[in-house]
Amino acid sequence: MTTLREALEQNVREGELYEKLEKNKVRCYACGHCCPIPEGLPGVCKVRFNRGGKLYVPWGYVGGVQCDPIEKKPFFHAHPGALAYCFGMMGCDLHCAYCQNWVTSQAIRDPAALAPALRATPEGLVKDALRQKARVVVSTYNEPLITSEWAVAVFKEARAAGLKTGFVSNGNGTPQVLEYLRPWVDLYKVDLKSFDDRHYRQLGGRLQPILDTLRRLHEMGIWLEIVTLLIPRFNDSADELQRLTEFLAGVSPDIPWHVTAFHKDYKMTDPENTRPEDLLRAAEIGKKAGLRYVYAGNLPGGVGELENTCCPNCGELLIERYGYFISAYRLTATGTCPSCGSGIPGRWDTCFQGQITAHPYLPRLRRPSLPRILST
Ligand code: SF4
Repeated sequence: MTTLREALEQNVREGELYEKLEKNKVRCYACGHCCPIPEGLPGVCKVRFNRGGKLYVPWGYVGGVQCDPIEKKPFFHAHPGALAYCFGMMGCDLHCAYCQNWVTSQAIRDPAALAPALRATPEGLVKDALRQKARVVVSTYNEPLITSEWAVAVFKEARAAGLKTGFVSNGNGTPQVLEYLRPWVDLYKVDLKSFDDRHYRQLGGRLQPILDTLRRLHEMGIWLEIVTLLIPRFNDSADELQRLTEFLAGVSPDIPWHVTAFHKDYKMTDPENTRPEDLLRAAEIGKKAGLRYVYAGNLPGGVGELENTCCPNCGELLIERYGYFISAYRLTATGTCPSCGSGIPGRWDTCFQGQITAHPYLPRLRRPSLPRILST
């Protein structure tokens, strides 16, 4: 019987984000690990590997497809109400004990993570996205940086069909992968998980490449929103939150910061679930640091005004939300506050185009076009 590892090793092509080194080694630049990989071995992510002195990367499948409201990614300042057609592959460069997508992200690393991989083509995915009336195609669920070549192939098709594109990522990038993505990615969400390098090392990464990626994405003009999952006793100290939000405000006070509630998941079951008052306290720290757009997520109805977008100049309510549902939209056609005329940063449509769903759903996949490459 074919194992998941064998199936994934057959669904590859030569990558573009690497250089050849002496003795048939290669160095991968798809994420901040920059793995030097000897012949016959994979990198830290387990899905990119050296075969015969060439780097082979995931190709031709998805580990999951789902239609999400764009607010779930979360993007609050980009095409409100749009349906995001989301796809992922397998694997991750980190191994967070609280990962909510561990079934796909920890595939191969964790024997309990068994997701069905479905054969796919960029054309087929984009056709399906159009059929669902999606306006944005998003690479998410596993870490998209490590499957950048596939994401770019899908995004090229998506752009040609008039769709926008997005990454939902841990932000552990390199200058090389960001230049590679730059022409094809409109929206980028980074999970800034902590502001403490020791915490990042527990998760399998380092803080510095993530901070460098945030600065670069902003300089490149890619629309950027940040999420911090607030985990009691892991990253919720006032000092850490102050340093984290001061850094973000230093890059730009206009970057939206979403502080969201942790719930016990995967292997992290010790900390208590985040309470509304914890989110409110963190949001206050973010505002004090100078961030103009601070949102509290995952606890609909429990965080007052912090689900809404308000004008930072006059306080006018601009977009009212309950969870992912948009209940009011008052921005002008040019993305300004109707009361005082202040420009609100983001990627706005000329008017609110309605909302297909405020809840995620699985698209009606056509089995003949997306057969499994491995039955689990
Ligand atoms: S994507 Fe990252 S972890 Fe995977 S091989 Fe490349 S540098 Fe290593």
